[in-house]
Amino acid sequence: MLCVVPIWPQRTIRSRAALAALVGLCALLLAALGPLTWPPALLTALAAALAYAWSTRRYYRRRRLTAAPFPEPWRRILERRVDFYHKRLDQAGRARFEDDVRIFLDEQQIYGAGEGDSAFQVDDEARVLIAASAAILCHGRPDFEWPRLRDIVVHPRGFDRDYKADGERPEIAGMVHSQGPILISARDLKLGYRRADGHNVGLHELAHVLDLADGYADGVPAGVDWSATAPWVALITDRLRKLRKERGGGPLRDYAATDEAELFAVAVEGFFERPALLRAKDPALYALLAEYFHQDPAARDGRAKM
Ligand SMILES: [Zn+2]
Repeated sequence: MLCVVPIWPQRTIRSRAALAALVGLCALLLAALGPLTWPPALLTALAAALAYAWSTRRYYRRRRLTAAPFPEPWRRILERRVDFYHKRLDQAGRARFEDDVRIFLDEQQIYGAGEGDSAFQVDDEARVLIAASAAILCHGRPDFEWPRLRDIVVHPRGFDRDYKADGERPEIAGMVHSQGPILISARDLKLGYRRADGHNVGLHELAHVLDLADGYADGVPAGVDWSATAPWVALITDRLRKLRKERGGGPLRDYAATDEAELFAVAVEGFFERPALLRAKDPALYALLAEYFHQDPAARDGRAKM
């Protein structure tokens, strides 16, 4: 399961090259031996070469991208703002994290809310923090490919149900439409990375994307092994029931009691922001997330303190 980011998946690229070469050579051989005339044979060989180039273009692009030095201003943002990067990772981990960040920024559409000249200008800090949120979630499962389905629309601050910041209740810091864009408040995103208080809108919204990747906002994210689905559902349902009964006092924010999807997203925030607390107060939930994300942040924090 664990492997490096699919920047240059050797086996996939070799097998596609071999298939294209085989098809092309067969076509040319048939033309040389007579059963096929040269024009269709040459066209088939050309089509095979184009199919190879098309199907591997993402990896060539990723390889070019990651061969260049990582932008220093982005590195400073990671060092200043992202504890996960500068406290929990060693040098090799940071290099991989940086690659994840720049691949995410290269392949995802992030733009400011509004239109034309009045559109919000998204700064580098917000962009890098959104990408860092994705990189944190997939650091232990770098074979995960973020779906390029959604635009990420950045609002300057919280907004209301009509997406207005100056409405009566602009309390929404982020939102993921089931089949639409991710909306996120730049102000809340940055605040989320200034305090490790279990409240991080970047991690929260991207956790929803993982949950929705299988088509359902049910608190069971994509990639959970089928044999683990029943225990997963049982645990989430149980924690939701308990949270609704005994509000407050637990390791998760009260908002987790909204439904299964919010419980998962809030648990993800707690898992990465206050892992020792979550592990101490709810070891079963911590273990479930540790297994899913292939990460053990509480152990890493413990080692860092020794
Ligand atoms: Zn949510």
